[in-house]
Amino acid sequence: MTDLAQLVPYDEALSRYEPVIGLETHVELGTTTKMFCGCPTTFGLEPNSAVCPVCLGLPGSLPVANRAAIEYTIRIGLALNCSVATWCRFARKNYFYPDMPKDFQISQYDEPLCTDGWLDVVVEGRTVRVGIERVHLEEDTGKSLHMGGATGRIHGAEYSLVDYNRAGIPLVEVVTKPVAGTGALAPDVARTYVTELRDLLRSLGVSDVRMEEGSLRCDVNTSLAPHGAAEWGTRTETKNVNSLRSVERAVRFEIERQAAVLDAGQKVVQETRHFHEDNGSTTAGRSKEEAQDYRYFPEPDLVPVAPDRDWVEQIRASLPELPAARRTRLLAEWGLSDLEMTQLQNAGALDLIGATVAAGASAADARKWWMGELARHANATGTELADLPISATEVARVNALVKAGTINDKLARQVLDGVLAGEGDPDAVVAARGLAIVSDDAALTEAVDAAIAASPDIVAKIRDGKTAAVGALVGGVMKATRGRADANRARELILERLS
Ligand SMILES: [Zn+2]
Repeated sequence: MTDLAQLVPYDEALSRYEPVIGLETHVELGTTTKMFCGCPTTFGLEPNSAVCPVCLGLPGSLPVANRAAIEYTIRIGLALNCSVATWCRFARKNYFYPDMPKDFQISQYDEPLCTDGWLDVVVEGRTVRVGIERVHLEEDTGKSLHMGGATGRIHGAEYSLVDYNRAGIPLVEVVTKPVAGTGALAPDVARTYVTELRDLLRSLGVSDVRMEEGSLRCDVNTSLAPHGAAEWGTRTETKNVNSLRSVERAVRFEIERQAAVLDAGQKVVQETRHFHEDNGSTTAGRSKEEAQDYRYFPEPDLVPVAPDRDWVEQIRASLPELPAARRTRLLAEWGLSDLEMTQLQNAGALDLIGATVAAGASAADARKWWMGELARHANATGTELADLPISATEVARVNALVKAGTINDKLARQVLDGVLAGEGDPDAVVAARGLAIVSDDAALTEAVDAAIAASPDIVAKIRDGKTAAVGALVGGVMKATRGRADANRARELILERLS
């Protein structure tokens, strides 16, 4: 057991040890039905309402593979530069778990559908090629809910419930090869890889890739070895890390913890570990099973999968523009630097800006709103940009109102506030809050006269030819109209009055 006080500071750990990481990512596919039966895959249904004899594993029921799931897996494999097997089989992975109704899981073992690919990620200007060992297809388990305890974990719970709606949902597992040689960047590489993979999967349309709903789940392997060692260290597997930030923190913590274990002359135990969101630590779970513990054998109830080569080529030809290629294109189209592009990507703003541009705004304007006012709002409320209650069309409309001179930037921020607060679309907010710029002379005259009357000394300066002083009077007009005056027209009116 490691307590938090025994961690080796990160930089010090890296001065003595080299980390190797590996990532196993589970993706729930967005098929309409389950992997081996016709039950719906809809999230959030009444517990145990989307089940049938096949996914409950009742005696005599027989599975049939879902063609769409196989197609999606091939799409993922091709997008990750993998080879697609000409012939492969499902395998039975035997273990007892209460949320697995059959007491075995249909998975793939030594004959995965896709193998040996790669995904490039860019971290701090450096391109790291992450090797992909395999992309295989399996079925998800059900979900256990531990009730009556404080934490929702099994420890301390009074009883447990199980929901089999998720059992049998097609799940793709993407396993990387070990990633070595990234040194202090290892946590960042892990996070960027999962981000890139998520964006890739989203662009392929194969999953909604929502980490918070569990449709993208990550196991993070980390090991440490002294610099120059001939062999890699013993790895730990931190299970079900469920946010991008947690992926980075989990690797970082394991580096600091394993360095302390090795410094003390002890051995790192090969085990699964749990990640704790509250303090970013990991604690020991069960000792890691070996493959032979699962007694894998070819699934006798399913025929082998032999994807026709023409079909595979059709799928390849239908792949959309992938995120990396899209970024390269947008970089040129939007005139961005690499750093600016990375910022947009990290903020999850690329699609939003793209949609805002499609709705009529320039790229520069779209970027200004999303990365400025709206990013501030997202940060302040702890939300993702994409989850803010405002659409790209609405942002484009606010921008159009500024371009038309109906509002200025300052008023636009109030309009955005109004839309975010649920007061309606931008035009409705402008009308309801009375935010349109006043450029009508009749409406401005009163404020102009009041500003002139209030500052005889400034008026005297302007009459002496110091026209720069007019700014102070314009400021008075702006104040009197709560920022709604057309500043240029107010300036003209003041100068006309005093000439
Ligand atoms: Zn079913």
